[in-house]
Amino acid sequence: MPKSSKRQAEIICEVCGKPHPADEIELVFRRPDPIAALSSRVRAKRCKEDDDLCALWGERGRAHRYFVRGVIPLPVIGREVGYQIGAWAEVQMADFDRIRELWDDQTQSEEPPMTGRLANRISLHEAPTLDLNVTVHLTGPKTRPHLMAAERDHTLFKEQAEGVTAHRAAQYTGLVNAGWEDTLRALLTRLGL
Ligand SMILES: [Zn+2]
Repeated sequence: MPKSSKRQAEIICEVCGKPHPADEIELVFRRPDPIAALSSRVRAKRCKEDDDLCALWGERGRAHRYFVRGVIPLPVIGREVGYQIGAWAEVQMADFDRIRELWDDQTQSEEPPMTGRLANRISLHEAPTLDLNVTVHLTGPKTRPHLMAAERDHTLFKEQAEGVTAHRAAQYTGLVNAGWEDTLRALLTRLGL
């Protein structure tokens, strides 16, 4: 389907009977949770951040922390194109420096995978995803690193290995809207509405 097309193909779901878009908006975490949790004042003082990389300066002897934005690829059963969750991994300083060094490198996918920890809470999983061990695979100068769950007994590991249903992908997308509703509700409460 060309990118300019507004028409979205839909698939009737076998689980809930509702149509799910075949090519849907994906769940994206804009920042690592430990950074999103900080006040804007602290963030301005201690963070160097953009949409690709974040560094958080430790205070009172605490270590600095480094984050890289990647995607969690999930094959979707019966679909050619998989689902991707946009998420962040915390990595060691040496790996952070290496990622920056290789940023525009055409051959970066040959780099051995790095280890990291997932830096976002994805509420659809019973076991926490925050701090889940992942491997970070560089993919290319114009594509984000792939984050692969490294703990075999975690449901995210199983979903990456075995694929998810279109229904499950739609549940992930549902978290996008849920986040928006939470924000709106908090704003209305603050305004006394
Ligand atoms: Zn469904």
